[in-house]
Amino acid sequence: MSCWAREVPADLSTGTNVRRAMNDDDVGGSDLTRIAVLALLGRDGPASRATVARELDLSPATVSQVTKRLIQQGVIEPLYYAPSEGGRPGQLLGLVADAGRAVGVKLAADHLILVDVRLDGLVLATRTESFDALAPDAISRLLSSLEAFLGTGGASLLGVGVCVPGVVARPDVGDVDADVLGWSAMPLGRDLRRAVGVPVLIENDVKAFAVAQRLYGVGRSRRSFVVVTIGRGVGFACVNSGVLERGSHGGAGELGHVVVSNNGPQCACGQRGCVEAYIGADGLVAAGRAAGLLRAGQGLDHLAALADRGEAAARQVFARAGQRLAYAIAPAIAALNPELLLVAGEGTASWQHWDTAFRASLSRRLPSWMRGIPVEIDQWDESSWARGAAAIVLATPFDRNALAGQQRLQVLARLHGGDGSAGPDS
Ligand SMILES: [Zn+2]
Repeated sequence: MSCWAREVPADLSTGTNVRRAMNDDDVGGSDLTRIAVLALLGRDGPASRATVARELDLSPATVSQVTKRLIQQGVIEPLYYAPSEGGRPGQLLGLVADAGRAVGVKLAADHLILVDVRLDGLVLATRTESFDALAPDAISRLLSSLEAFLGTGGASLLGVGVCVPGVVARPDVGDVDADVLGWSAMPLGRDLRRAVGVPVLIENDVKAFAVAQRLYGVGRSRRSFVVVTIGRGVGFACVNSGVLERGSHGGAGELGHVVVSNNGPQCACGQRGCVEAYIGADGLVAAGRAAGLLRAGQGLDHLAALADRGEAAARQVFARAGQRLAYAIAPAIAALNPELLLVAGEGTASWQHWDTAFRASLSRRLPSWMRGIPVEIDQWDESSWARGAAAIVLATPFDRNALAGQQRLQVLARLHGGDGSAGPDS
């Protein structure tokens, strides 16, 4: 892992134009530190510099430099003075919440979810539509949905983020390989950029979700955490020392497709015996059928209902899944040593039936000194993925690790009040 957070240099100069801001970053901007400050102010409301330093475990000098720059960028603003415990009153800083917003799109094989999210994480609008990823005109239909949704929004749109259940080597290029969608080297980013006229970033859905957690969730107070998602597939993402791990080709975290049995069930990726083939939704349904619990046409909801009613064999299917999940991720936890494990995804609706076996199995497979790792279960809702997609855009101006290239510079230019066309190198 080579993802050490960088501190803002003491002599960091700040500029008000885009090129200057970019050069500042090239000096070594502390990307996610700025995001963390924004997220803190966005979630908890106005706070003093001292509070920011304490909550984020940063030095007062770092907070002073970072907030000075954010004020110059017009993203946060000095507010009133509030009484402090002794000494001088502390000036509070607040987010200029409408300084930017982003539209996020979650693509699934049969539906898409669109959200409009403000810089402070507030969801302004949500829409769910049917979608057929395998249809020949899938991209043009996606464009129609997106353009209709963009038409309802106001000013300050920084860009569009799209997250997919697949591998994206570079978010700014946006070529997608996704077996679940039936897409191979699909030039989604290119096609969308041509059509919508705003910056477009494409990312793997679990990585996008982890970025959203870094901005607005568990990552606000923890610099290293991992996300595991269960649902149709099994996903994994890692934020290490404040930086999202993407791997050499965007494939970091593909634990769902590690083969655990050479003769196991067929996986959507074409291999046999992947973790996902056992404990993804289809794998659980197959296990339910093999146990005589499900008839033709009955699915995961029915299996979950049986477990809820106390059917031992149904509970056993979920417990076995919890064990397999723990075995699959324990080596990664041991390798990364995160502060927290967050379990998320549609499958958490039945987590109560995974939980006991998962925790016990994880403990058994971890070095003894890591067994106390906190495991949190996310409060999942339908728009969680799409909010992640928006977060990759909202994080971009402050994140030089995001491989966002020229799209990042254009987002940055829009945050500075332009239309992006005057951005450097664009
Ligand atoms: Zn697979």
